[in-house]
Amino acid sequence: YNAKWQRSGVELYRDEIDRRTPARLSMLGDLRAAIEGDEIDVVFQPKLELGTGRVVGAEALVRWESPTRGRVSPAEFVRVAEDTGLIKDLTDLVLKRGIAALRMFDDAGLGLRLAINLSTHDLFDTKLPARVLTQLEYNQVQPSELTLEITESSLLVDAPRTRATIDDLHDAGFRLAIDDFGTGYSSLSYLRRLPVQELKIDQSFVSGMLLDPQDEVIVRSTIDLGHNLRLSVVAEGVEDEATLHALASMGCDVAQGYWIARPLSAPELIAWVIERRRSTATGQALPSVSRP
Ligand code: C2E
Ligand code: MG
Ligand code: MG
Ligand code: MG
Repeated sequence: YNAKWQRSGVELYRDEIDRRTPARLSMLGDLRAAIEGDEIDVVFQPKLELGTGRVVGAEALVRWESPTRGRVSPAEFVRVAEDTGLIKDLTDLVLKRGIAALRMFDDAGLGLRLAINLSTHDLFDTKLPARVLTQLEYNQVQPSELTLEITESSLLVDAPRTRATIDDLHDAGFRLAIDDFGTGYSSLSYLRRLPVQELKIDQSFVSGMLLDPQDEVIVRSTIDLGHNLRLSVVAEGVEDEATLHALASMGCDVAQGYWIARPLSAPELIAWVIERRRSTATGQALPSVSRP
């Protein structure tokens, strides 16, 4: 298998397939130490409801600041963790930190829902619902306050087995979202039968939708598709005000992106939400994002 790719000279692709390269093994060792040590952090990006202009939730995003590697992208180290048993420890850490932060948001009276990303391998663990419930009970948080984001591509991996976990999560009362929608190949009939409540349009379509008419068509049709399936539609990767207004006029429910806010630490998020609500209440300086 590998030899085939080697001969074809597709080095990058080969590296993706061969998971035991020295570089990956070295990152794996560092990541294990990082999880046991104090190098992993969780930040929170606000989710804005377009109809009301209210912040209704936040997505937990993992961060790794390595003393030797500097800041490593989660897209990179989550993949390395997934190829080994390490993803369980990483997910548990994010659940623990994320739900502790949700407790703080509740104490501050913010009424936010927290979203946590799951990886494909998490869905293979039949004990996943119990793992999440343990953290919720410890922090006295309700399952309905938590959204679990599952990427569209991971829905297609061994569907019967992952589907059982998805059903259990739904039965436990968690809200489920399909992340990075539009980048996988899930069929509409499969989508319709899944117990999900939310569809997140991938940022690759959103960020350039005002420049690329094809992206705009994809975003518009995904919003309609989501609504026809009675799902709440979230657009990620909103980087400017014009895109935010276009999404609002298309009836998109919720938006997330650098233009609204970058991912923040838990105390920063609390301060940001309180300040935003204060200035909205007094009618100051905030862009109107209500629908026309
Ligand atoms: P995602 O779940 O689709 O998260 C959205 C990503 O887009 C985040 O990147 C976020 O920082 C970034 N983003 C938000 N707004 C904008 C914007 O306006 N423009 C652009 N260009 N990007 C924006 P991040 O934090 O680097 O995470 C990348 C991916 O890594 C995530 O994609 C998710 O798939 C994965 N990931 C992150 N945290 C976790 C985690 O705790 N567990 C798991 N399993 N995966 C995670
Ligand atoms: Mg996500
Ligand atoms: Mg996403
Ligand atoms: Mg994405």
